[in-house]
Amino acid sequence: MTSVVGRLAPSPTGLLHVGNARSLLLAWLAARHAGGKIYLRVEDLLPDGDAHLPSLLADLRWLGLDWDPWQDRDYTRQSARSAVYDALLAQLLACGGVYPCVCTRKDIDLAARAPHAEDHCAAYPGTCRGRFASESEALAFEHARAVAENRPPLGVALRLRVPPDPIAFSDRLNGPQSIGLPQDSGDIVVRRKDGGVAYMFAVVVDDWAMGVTQVVRGDDLLTATAQQLAVYAALQRLASPLLPPFAGLPAYAHVPLVLGDDGRRLAKRNQSLQLGVLRREGVPAARLRQWLAASIGLAAPADWIAQFDWARLPRQPVRFGAAELAAL
Ligand code: GLU
Repeated sequence: MTSVVGRLAPSPTGLLHVGNARSLLLAWLAARHAGGKIYLRVEDLLPDGDAHLPSLLADLRWLGLDWDPWQDRDYTRQSARSAVYDALLAQLLACGGVYPCVCTRKDIDLAARAPHAEDHCAAYPGTCRGRFASESEALAFEHARAVAENRPPLGVALRLRVPPDPIAFSDRLNGPQSIGLPQDSGDIVVRRKDGGVAYMFAVVVDDWAMGVTQVVRGDDLLTATAQQLAVYAALQRLASPLLPPFAGLPAYAHVPLVLGDDGRRLAKRNQSLQLGVLRREGVPAARLRQWLAASIGLAAPADWIAQFDWARLPRQPVRFGAAELAAL
């Protein structure tokens, strides 16, 4: 039997709030309940992406989460793995799995971060598919256009060709899904114009490299899973020696989010709900753990690894607002 490997994959671009904490806790409990491992992978791909790393680590420890080392490191930072991503992208470019793109679009800017539902934008129409014979041709095009427009040249992005047919998968909590990528996202940005690798690519390379068998995260990433499965398929075709032999796709569980009093998912604007703020204000971690336990259908955090049960997890979003905060 394959043993369970999960991951905690926070982005340290903002401070962790109660909603992040709940999704991370569920990923941790699901792995630990199964007697499995869980790795911490810091997704710090954006420039200045690690500004909040120290408080992230402190928050996770305050919450009581632990994790296993991977490749002799306590935790992994995506910013330290760019050589692997770049080498795989070069191989995909050589075999035509990805192509250079000179389009200026908002989705290129957004590509580095996980596409939470509020960021969703229109599908890419495939303008640059088959347009350039090589990356240098695309770069030359961009340089000429920059001169004509009297502005500094940008780089070129790389996009993954998505398959024409819908991608089907089953989510543990949300059931069977089928998503047609040409309509949903179009060809996916895997490297931004500034040369940085996109979230959608790095997440798959790392889940594969780390042998992740179970992905538990917020349900705003449910549809992004189809894009990630397209990346998996392209990497399987590539069969690169840079990755271990393919050992299967992870199982996915997208958990309901925590909403604020305004009915929207918690985000940076809900500063008072950040773990760092709660810590500084002297809220005992035990109180937050008690709320978290209740919110996932458990009586108390004392024995939550043993008691954890997907069947008890409420399928609706939970609310954490001023009243819940006051109760802490
Ligand atoms: N780093 C992503 C985020 O914090 C989550 C990625 C994932 O779990 O796949 O939104």
